Amino acid sequence: MQFAETIIVGGGPGGSSCAGKLKQRGHDTLILDRKTFPRVKLCAGWITEKVMSDLQFSQADYPHAILELEVRTHFPFLPVALPWFPTEFTNYSIRRVEFDHWLLDRAGVPVIEHTVSRIRRAGELYIIDDKFSCRNLVGAGGTMCPVRRQLFPDNRGRTSQVATLEKEFEYAGRQEICHLYFFDRGLKGYAWYVPKADGFVNVGIGGKCKYFKKSGTKIHDHFQGFLDRLVREKRLDRSTAEQLDFSGHPYFLTSYHGEVQKDHCYLIGDSAGLATLDLGEGIGPAIESGLLAASAILGEAAYSRAEFTTYSSGGLTGQLLRRLLPVRGTELKVVGAQLPGNAIPDDSQAQSAGTPSIRLPSSGDQSDAAQRRAA
Ligand SMILES: Cc1cc2nc3c(=O)[nH]c(=O)nc-3n(C[C@H](O)[C@H](O)[C@H](O)COP(=O)(O)OP(=O)(O)OC[C@H]3O[C@@H](n4cnc5c(N)ncnc54)[C@H](O)[C@@H]3O)c2cc1C
Repeated sequence: MQFAETIIVGGGPGGSSCAGKLKQRGHDTLILDRKTFPRVKLCAGWITEKVMSDLQFSQADYPHAILELEVRTHFPFLPVALPWFPTEFTNYSIRRVEFDHWLLDRAGVPVIEHTVSRIRRAGELYIIDDKFSCRNLVGAGGTMCPVRRQLFPDNRGRTSQVATLEKEFEYAGRQEICHLYFFDRGLKGYAWYVPKADGFVNVGIGGKCKYFKKSGTKIHDHFQGFLDRLVREKRLDRSTAEQLDFSGHPYFLTSYHGEVQKDHCYLIGDSAGLATLDLGEGIGPAIESGLLAASAILGEAAYSRAEFTTYSSGGLTGQLLRRLLPVRGTELKVVGAQLPGNAIPDDSQAQSAGTPSIRLPSSGDQSDAAQRRAA
């Protein structure tokens, strides 16, 4: 049996960021991933400057296609697109097939191709498929992470699930500007046209599963409507739109529901369901949680949901969205009824008492707002 002090299941941005930090500190770390990298990951590939500062690289350091995005935002009630996107940071596009591979290489830890299926405890150790053992285990296997499914079976609320459809392809007529379409034809979510620096473009759509269920609409019909719109707006030609073989993948928006650490086992990124509530940004939170889990393993920080960025938007929009879209969890009813200002529901208290409770952010809180101020 192969032993490593820490085993990370999943070599996506969450897993590789965690591994990179552990490796820098000389910690014995191994990554298991079921795929060989470079591997395709369905994703629009939008990242923010915060991702780059968290991982300490600049646009010039990145060896593949990276494009600073000029964004136009469309709303159904406005006749023109706004040259505006509410994120606090500069936005970029990358191609996940390149980005994830580069991050994994950069982490510099051994990666073994292995599909994890069975995990058990033996004293202080976690045993994986009777082939690997470790003292610390990190679940970074995305939405269907085996670590989450086996060791944290109840950690997510279904209300926060997002459905997506997308396609990334090389397109001679690709335009330079990124277009985002919010609430198109009633969708609770948005559609995107994200150009990449090397002639590729990613088109896709994401919306809350709850919306599709309630409205009786289908994501495929929304996607078709969106492609028709791109054709009308001359961003895509008809024959390309008709031949797109798109596919989808679900993931979860953040909530205060469920544990992210048990003993020496940590959930990070999509495995914990950490995408931001307003824009469904998942790469940044995966990296942030991966780095934080590494600090916790090194004994330098605590690991809890209160530490993660929960909204991508900043400024006035961000403040407004924090009121309109409160983070949901076991305390749903309290959030709607009586939470003052930006009070944060306290999971630990709510769970131990069996009743909802809240705590107000203190100056020591490293919530997203606090982190951004610190940055
Ligand atoms: C269509 C779509 C568009 C998106 N667009 C954006 C965007 O533009 N910007 C953004 O910030 N976020 C976006 N997201 C979200 C983002 O892609 C995810 O939040 C992010 O990839 C999470 O990273 P991760 O490291 O947690 O997991 P992942 O990147 O999913 O990596 C998980 C890894 O675990 C491995 N794995 C899984 N199961 C096993 C197993 N049993 N054994 C071993 N290995 C396993 C997988 O092979 C994979 O390499 C999008 C998501 C979708 C679906």
